[in-house]
Amino acid sequence: MSPETLVKEPFLQTESHPFSYDSFDRYVMTTYGRFPIALDRGQGSRVWDTEGREYLDFVAGIATCTLGHAHPVLIETVTRQIQTLHHVSNLYYIPVQGELAKWLTEHSCADRAFFCNSGAEANEGAIKLARKYAHEKLNIANPIILTAHASFHGRTLATVTATGQPKYHKGFSPMMPGFYYVNYNDIEDLESAIAELDANERQVAAIMLEALQGEGGVRPGEIAYFQRVREICNEKGILLILDEVQVGMARTGKMWGYENLGIEPDIFTSAKGLGGGIPIGAMLCKSFCDVFEPGSHASTFGGNPFVCAVALSVCQTIEAEGILANVQQRGEQLRSGLRAIASKYPHSIAEVRGWGLINGMELKAEVELTSIELVKAAIAQGLLLVAAGPKVVRFVPPLIVTAAEVDRALAAVENAIVSLGN
Ligand SMILES: *Cc1c(COP(=O)(O)O)cnc(C)c1O
Repeated sequence: MSPETLVKEPFLQTESHPFSYDSFDRYVMTTYGRFPIALDRGQGSRVWDTEGREYLDFVAGIATCTLGHAHPVLIETVTRQIQTLHHVSNLYYIPVQGELAKWLTEHSCADRAFFCNSGAEANEGAIKLARKYAHEKLNIANPIILTAHASFHGRTLATVTATGQPKYHKGFSPMMPGFYYVNYNDIEDLESAIAELDANERQVAAIMLEALQGEGGVRPGEIAYFQRVREICNEKGILLILDEVQVGMARTGKMWGYENLGIEPDIFTSAKGLGGGIPIGAMLCKSFCDVFEPGSHASTFGGNPFVCAVALSVCQTIEAEGILANVQQRGEQLRSGLRAIASKYPHSIAEVRGWGLINGMELKAEVELTSIELVKAAIAQGLLLVAAGPKVVRFVPPLIVTAAEVDRALAAVENAIVSLGN
């Protein structure tokens, strides 16, 4: 079957499918504060709700739908792989998993990959690897992992502990031992934390950071900070783990977030954009710290033929279709457009910042307007956005977004701000 025969025409905007919010809320746990929109169709950078309303999707499943919705390559790969082999155990060799690992290591600083199903699980793998390395190579009995305030690393017990945001810890104590928090982009705080821990005979085994803090407010890492972090790690034999779950896979206009900082991590993780919306996570490392052996770590679904074939297609499409250049150009266009809006509404907007197609618009602390209110106003203008904390609105469209779509999004943002009376 050729991709052409598989791709359906975009659904008619007027088509409507009855949906019951009450029934959904009756049966699904309320772990999310949901917007009253029920989405059931997508094409490119657009999605439609059950009432037939169209939205520009600048959320992309939170920086996940790399190639947008219903991309022909995804349709072709999913169809081919489900007809061939979708799942077998890692007790056997899975050729396409090897091909994906080869592609990822050839396009990054890492030598080896482990596959799992999500960002949290990839970070769990990184934490376990760092602890095992500390025990076996550094002879540290109680290894400490430093992470940053305002970070986000996932919702499992270890990764939520690694996440330096008290609101995510509430109700779940006791938290996992072995974590310690420092201020992001603050080298003095990091150095004094290591010195203080040293003085108490608590040894730091790893430092885990995001190259750009996504969920914590779209805060890019500073080059000087990360270069010094790398030096400290080299001097002290500390592992540098970068959580690339949100910023990896071309999101920043470079393949990996760390390329913006001129450093290489020892271990890094990927998930969100890796499968273009199919659930897959990966933990990659340099060979010197690969201390896993048979039985150390595992995942039943991790790296199955289905998800690996899709992720490999996503990787190859990023290369073949010049996605990095599009991310750089559309990112510039979006940031300069948002900055123009910011200068028109200086009472409401404090700053616009980001890399490539992960950008944040920060609202003025002194105005009452919250990120959620702006997100709601944008929805009314047919634009989906996602908050990154109470004062920052995040723009993370599919990486195939067009110039015309960025212009439409900018117009919608301005209309949304005007509609709020700012
Ligand atoms: C989303 C995210 C995670 C968690 O990924 P899940 O797939 O939801 O477990 C971890 N780290 C970062 C930086 C993220 O953005």
